[in-house]
Amino acid sequence: MDIRQIDQQYIAGTYKRVPLTLTGGQGSLLMGEDGREYIDLGSGIAVNTFGTADPGWVGAVTDQLNKLQHTSNYYYTEPMAKLAQTLCERTGMASVFFSNSGAEANECAIKAARKYSFDKYGEGRSKIITLRDSFHGRTVTTLAATGQDSLHTFFGPFTEGFVHVPAGDAEALRAAADESCCAVMLELIQGEGGVNVLSKEYVDAVRKLAEERDLLVVVDEVQTGNGRTGRLYAHMHYGFRPDIFSTAKGLAGGLPMGATLFGEKAKGVLTPGTHGSTFGGNPVCAAGALYVLSRLDEELLAQVEKKGAYIRRELEASFGVIQVTGLGLMLGIELKTDLARAVERCREKGVLVLTAHDKMRLLPPLNISDELLQKAVAVIKEVIEE
Ligand SMILES: *Cc1c(COP(=O)(O)O)cnc(C)c1O
Repeated sequence: MDIRQIDQQYIAGTYKRVPLTLTGGQGSLLMGEDGREYIDLGSGIAVNTFGTADPGWVGAVTDQLNKLQHTSNYYYTEPMAKLAQTLCERTGMASVFFSNSGAEANECAIKAARKYSFDKYGEGRSKIITLRDSFHGRTVTTLAATGQDSLHTFFGPFTEGFVHVPAGDAEALRAAADESCCAVMLELIQGEGGVNVLSKEYVDAVRKLAEERDLLVVVDEVQTGNGRTGRLYAHMHYGFRPDIFSTAKGLAGGLPMGATLFGEKAKGVLTPGTHGSTFGGNPVCAAGALYVLSRLDEELLAQVEKKGAYIRRELEASFGVIQVTGLGLMLGIELKTDLARAVERCREKGVLVLTAHDKMRLLPPLNISDELLQKAVAVIKEVIEE
């Protein structure tokens, strides 16, 4: 039987898939079962930081796989310890909790924010303010945190204690931040919500209010992290360090790993028995992440900015484009033409792109070659100008 038929028969129908079966690839090229090559501008949703089967990454991961694939968190392992050290040294954060996904990294951030407040003020200060059009994950709690009403159906009751305010509205935030609040949680660039970049002024206002009311600033860097925006983490564009931030997607370059990082304020909040994860900090994933971070130096980050600027320049000059949003290699493109059709036409012409809300979304491997990028951008222009 055909792979697509087997999938449709046996896999829970939660995904509306593209009619394409992928079998492999190399770097920023993916291979379809149809024998065709595709330029990858999605990286498995910002996961494959250096594309597919990057030789250095494969080497780092397989070396570890041949030594020790897993142990319980009762024991120390070198990759996990070194990864935590590297993350803290490069961000100025104080400690890390490892998990396996973005939702879990956020779940941990939420627990820590609430316990920070509980330890300091006692019960009754558990509310967390999040933004409209945000996306924080698919668990019952992270869905409650997510500011999209369309996702607040079927699965109730959802976890209590989240309020959503419009992004960019400092007054609405101030009004929501009553005595019962312990934290503000936000994406600096809303990914799933349509690649919406928060302004520096708004983020400054969030930080000021948080300071006044001892709210923790929790930043969801699941998508924006790990070099994606041209800095190691997006908060570095905004000139501040969050109290807590989460990351996942591109962290381990294609293996499941989440991390929640704590600043000085929150570093001692999670104590023995308050949180845990069987797979969290898995040595193979940690080895992948250490390799990814070793490659994310200033030179590579400068390349990310340069390539992002190139895409933006080319597409902003096209009459088919209304606007380009985003930072680095996390870009949203608002089109004059029909989005679904444009995505399909790109695929027909050998370029795989994503969407976010009403925009085309590009999240290419951070090391995509200039040649492939030029080819792919030419295809996008051709399609949207048809
Ligand atoms: C993808 C994403 C998540 C959820 O990550 P999973 O690994 O799918 O659980 C959470 N927050 C943001 C900003 C994301 O982009």
